[in-house]
Amino acid sequence: MPADALKCKECSTTYPLEARYVCDRCFGPLEVAYSPPTSSPEELRRRIQAGPHTLWRYADFLPLEGPPRSALPTGWTPLVRADRLAQRLGLGELWVKNETANPTHSFKDRVVSVALARAQELGFQTIACASTGNLANAVAAHAAAAGLPSYVLIPADLEEEKILATGAYGTNVVAVKGNYDAVNRLCTELAGERDDWAFVNVNVRPYYAEGSKTLAFEVAEQLGWELPDRVVAPVASGSLFTKLARAFEEWIECGLLEGEVPAMNGAQAEGCSPVAQAFAAGTSICRPVKPDTIAKSLAIGNPADGPYAVELAQRTGGGIDAVTDDEVRAGIRLLAETTGIFTETAGGVTTAVLAKLAERGDIGADERVVLCVTGDGLKTIDVVRDTFAVTEIEPRVEEFDRALSRPGGLATAFGSAGAAI
Ligand SMILES: [Zn+2]
Repeated sequence: MPADALKCKECSTTYPLEARYVCDRCFGPLEVAYSPPTSSPEELRRRIQAGPHTLWRYADFLPLEGPPRSALPTGWTPLVRADRLAQRLGLGELWVKNETANPTHSFKDRVVSVALARAQELGFQTIACASTGNLANAVAAHAAAAGLPSYVLIPADLEEEKILATGAYGTNVVAVKGNYDAVNRLCTELAGERDDWAFVNVNVRPYYAEGSKTLAFEVAEQLGWELPDRVVAPVASGSLFTKLARAFEEWIECGLLEGEVPAMNGAQAEGCSPVAQAFAAGTSICRPVKPDTIAKSLAIGNPADGPYAVELAQRTGGGIDAVTDDEVRAGIRLLAETTGIFTETAGGVTTAVLAKLAERGDIGADERVVLCVTGDGLKTIDVVRDTFAVTEIEPRVEEFDRALSRPGGLATAFGSAGAAI
């Protein structure tokens, strides 16, 4: 499926495939447009299956001249059958897409892989980004692997784990006194000043966004070339959420999949839920908010793709829901104790929204549901502090036995997360 232009999402004006992200005529966002594939579905499938066990197996559906010769291997993360979580929530067939298995432990490795590869094709020598944390991790790592200098701009109040895990790669960490929306504004200005820098989520954003499609391609391939009925995914800018659906659409259009785009359910934290609020109000206009939530990786108060996320949820019979920070903590716990997957706050948001949908009876008993867990719990380790007890004993057997025989034994202080949701 050759990429042949950048196209305005609003007025359909087309532009060459260069570093450009906004329409000159209407200021709408640009995205990559492809011409229909010339190969049969069988040939497309054969080419995918002959590819590497990374996201580059989907190179035919990415806006690149070719896959990069060397890059940090990304994607092909596990799709895990989650029977115990399904049982706890009273659901039928539930799968968890475990994006913590990427090189820097979040789905952002996908978007950065594609943005960086395209930036190199376009001749950029310096990589930068505005980030809520996971993107900074990924840019620092992938730029290091490519041997390019990088600059990551982050809100100064970011979780320390994410700052440390970013600086470790030898990038230039710039902490901006302000929230993500301030960081993003600054990067937009900087991208105008420094046209020899590729800001992965600003001036090469149309390519960056395409990387998210590979998550959905993998889900479909891992389900045996079938579609799920429903996907639950986090919404920050709305880019991941909308590109997942776009990926399913592309494969339906070219004959690789049969059926309809799944019901798309978006997940936000109440402390930053402009898209959920718009959905609830029945409008696609997302009024900007000032974020205040433990789910910092989703704390985008002015989401660029918010209106498209609302429209997608409406069109597919899904929805956009928001959960409280306490529900987020309970979601992290619930996922961990039923699947063995420890997620960061964003995954807690997504799991808590899944629990809410299940409780409301919004999910049919025969539905095949995919829950997208986008990042690793070690990135936001602080939020699980004091949610369980640690029993300290002297190194003697009778001490152990005494601790065990106390009322409640060694049970956690937190109790069952299922009850808290
Ligand atoms: Zn336009």
